[in-house]
Amino acid sequence: MTFEPINPPQRLLMGPGPINADPRVLRAMSAQLVGQYDPAMTAYMNETMELYREVFRTRNHATLLVDGTSRAGIESALVSLIEPGDRVLVPVFGRFGHLLREIAERCGAEVHVIETEWGTVFTPEQIAAAIAEVRPKILAIVHGDTSTTLAQPLEEIGALCAANDVIFYTDATASLGGNRFEADAWGVDVATAGLQKCLGGPSGSAPITLSAKAVELVEKRKSIEAGIRVESDAVSASPIRSNYFDLSQILDYWGPKRLNHHTEATTALYGARECARLLVNEGLPEAVERHRVHGAAMATGLSAMGLTLFGDQKHKMNNVVGVEIPDGIDGDGARAAMLGDYGIEIGTSFGPLHGRVWRIGTMGYNARRDTVLLTLAALEQVLRRGGVSVTAGSGTGAALDMYASE
Ligand SMILES: *Cc1c(COP(=O)(O)O)cnc(C)c1O
Repeated sequence: MTFEPINPPQRLLMGPGPINADPRVLRAMSAQLVGQYDPAMTAYMNETMELYREVFRTRNHATLLVDGTSRAGIESALVSLIEPGDRVLVPVFGRFGHLLREIAERCGAEVHVIETEWGTVFTPEQIAAAIAEVRPKILAIVHGDTSTTLAQPLEEIGALCAANDVIFYTDATASLGGNRFEADAWGVDVATAGLQKCLGGPSGSAPITLSAKAVELVEKRKSIEAGIRVESDAVSASPIRSNYFDLSQILDYWGPKRLNHHTEATTALYGARECARLLVNEGLPEAVERHRVHGAAMATGLSAMGLTLFGDQKHKMNNVVGVEIPDGIDGDGARAAMLGDYGIEIGTSFGPLHGRVWRIGTMGYNARRDTVLLTLAALEQVLRRGGVSVTAGSGTGAALDMYASE
């Protein structure tokens, strides 16, 4: 048997992520490797830290990458912060809130969950009441949950956490770069992300930032592994329960000690650095505005075709929209037609929304006018062939009108 070289089909990825990577990111990732401690490599690591401080809008020194997909960032944050028996509060408004709960439970936390219906978010009062009742050590909450397309406002939660001595962790994978995110101004202690949403890269690297308070907590649990430990190194009575995701050791690898932990995924770092470089060059407010404009054009076009948008639109993320599948249409069949006839991927949904809602993304490299108009035009034909009466050109026309009025 012979195998052909990898030659994927042409696709336009307009789902909730991954999206097409920016070609500049792919080019950066084709650069040759250098050694783990080559001065060129350590310089790239330092530059990556500096760039992600701008992306997260923070002065946190501890701003770095965890190797692995976004989930690696989440796991490293939670396993490094949580000691077995710790109380952790997880407000859940979608699928990824359930993931935070699940990981916190596996870390041995006493997890307390509050839930709100998918398509809604929490009020600060609800969070304040839960903090008062549970008295958690850690609050873990998703910022933007692609499963419901909504973003939880975080502005007031940081102050609530600070007043109650709670460590504030948030998963900003879906939102970062395409929606306002202010780690320092909002009092976020730890935030994690990934590349394959608004950052315009492939999955496989997880940017993370930790406040001084979070670093202190993690450092207390430091246990340098045997074989590289020296006499003077402390051995914690409560070591972090993962070696790979041990942020105390990962921080020493990214710091002046250059502790020998994992081998930084060089190619992924090249990609992550390029994603951040592009965003910082564009300007974070400008990137957020770009996502807002193209997300609004997509939503406007879908509504103009007579479709119903899902969820509380006041809290919709800029970069993804949920749309109810019209009566009589087979959701998966329509998605297959979008892919087969037009090479365009749109998203299905999880859990209570499965079969009810499609999710259409306009993020990262694909937050553009041409991608929005193409997707609307293709979807119109798919709906018409499926028997839905759609006025010809209604979606693209409304989107074009919106662009003209911006
Ligand atoms: C997409 C998404 C992830 C993805 O995690 P991966 O490990 O990269 O697949 C995590 N969290 C949120 C909120 C997401 O929207």
